[in-house]
Amino acid sequence: MTDTHTKVAFVTGASRGIGRSIAIGLARFGCDVVVADLASERAALDKTAEAVTALGRRAYAKSMDVASKADVTATVTAVLAEAGRIDVLVNNAGILKPSLLQDLDEATFDAHFDVNTKGVFLMCQAVLPHMRARRFGRIVNIASVAGRKGSPTQGHYAATKAAVITLTRVFAQEVGMDGVTVNAICPGIILTEMGRNNLGSEAEVRYWTDVTALKRLGEPEDVVGPVCFFISDQADFVTGQALNVCGGLFFD
Ligand code: NAP
Repeated sequence: MTDTHTKVAFVTGASRGIGRSIAIGLARFGCDVVVADLASERAALDKTAEAVTALGRRAYAKSMDVASKADVTATVTAVLAEAGRIDVLVNNAGILKPSLLQDLDEATFDAHFDVNTKGVFLMCQAVLPHMRARRFGRIVNIASVAGRKGSPTQGHYAATKAAVITLTRVFAQEVGMDGVTVNAICPGIILTEMGRNNLGSEAEVRYWTDVTALKRLGEPEDVVGPVCFFISDQADFVTGQALNVCGGLFFD
């Protein structure tokens, strides 16, 4: 794939896992990258920023909580002042604390919706006036196959991701006339801290590997290509879609 100009991309949850790989992958793809994560992850976040600058791109490291409107507004304002523009937003920050719905406490339920769903809403709301005014923007929301499927101990998480897919479809329809596309990626099982914690035993790893068409679980880098596609000129006519990136684990 080729692209025509350097973009400024903003990636949340970029200190590790899928977000870190997306940030580095976007730098390799020619973007300057804003990497954001919670203040508690600052040391790891700075390492992601260093990896971006090592590729010859500009990096802006920002500590913020995507679930806080005040943080989101302040960070987007600061980035626009420093970098001049935001062309790409990748809403990647997310949490998963498995529990049977029967046993789930209210605070954990709320925390999942605050980060996974409200975080996406707040970030989109903050960048969209700028993108719409410039008549260009590419938003990629990291949802999950869980949002289409739902499975035991992930009901609350799956509901947040189903909501992200719906927000993606509606935002796409509300902002398409201003040159902004909004798409989602639904990863399957990716071997990050979250993915590994969620897979209990070796037997589970073997089971999920076996039921995946490509006979392997995902690596964070597996998500990078689809993000590059959605933000590239090759996807100018693609919006409101949710793409499974799961090695053939799920087909709807
Ligand atoms: P991860 O390794 O747990 O990384 C997530 C990052 O997001 C962490 O650095 C985390 O920081 C950060 N984060 C959490 N809450 C935040 C907040 N309020 N504001 C800003 N940053 C926050 O997870 P991952 O596996 O890379 O997952 C990335 C995305 O892919 C998530 O949206 C996840 O739901 C989705 N996904 C993952 C898989 C998988 O199998 N791994 C599958 C489908 C979808 P803390 O650690 O300090 O909380």
